Amino acid sequence: MVKAILFDIEGTVAPISFVKEVLFPYSKERMESFIKENKENPKVKEILDEVQKIEGKKLTEDEIIEVLKKWIEEDRKIAPLKDIQGLIWKEGFESGQLKAPLYDDAYEKMKQWKDKYRLYIYSSGSVGAQKLFFSHTNYGNILDWFSGHFDTKIGNKKESQSYEYIAEEIGLKPEEILFLSDNPDEIKAAAKAGLQVTKVSRPQDDPYIEDFPYKQIKSFEELDI
Ligand SMILES: [Mg+2]
Repeated sequence: MVKAILFDIEGTVAPISFVKEVLFPYSKERMESFIKENKENPKVKEILDEVQKIEGKKLTEDEIIEVLKKWIEEDRKIAPLKDIQGLIWKEGFESGQLKAPLYDDAYEKMKQWKDKYRLYIYSSGSVGAQKLFFSHTNYGNILDWFSGHFDTKIGNKKESQSYEYIAEEIGLKPEEILFLSDNPDEIKAAAKAGLQVTKVSRPQDDPYIEDFPYKQIKSFEELDI
């Protein structure tokens, strides 16, 4: 019997395109004005220093801004870029300029499920970013629907051990947890750990896989627990 539902975010409750088509361009557009407005903020100062350290030379403010924008184009996974983007997105969500787009079917089903099951999130985005996301959705603040959040600190999403740790952490047997994700490798890893699983294959995010060994749905509407 299912007692808790564990959700992935991108491709599962929200479109994958949000990060690439909304969040990244937003951080690039806002980079210059954000740094100019917040350069006295100690966190921002630290980030600007870090950029110069990585580049190995002293840079002007404008040069630092150009470096950060170039890193966005190159999709670099680099700490000062992630940190400044985190600050820009936080401000964007809090000011109402950014809204996290939940799929309608995901919103409707989670709304029903929250009274029957404990709901959890497991995403590669940090727990802080997840909380920001669910506090500022197109349906308003739904953060209190969730009993807990996990990110890659508990382990890689494609390794079954991560799911064992999550089960332990939330105090349930693996088979009492249903995991929903669009990623086939994550689904296989969770199934290996003994969780119940369903792959979410939304046509706009991840293709439906023929002969996939686990249950597959195109929308949460198809899912009855
Ligand atoms: Mg996903």
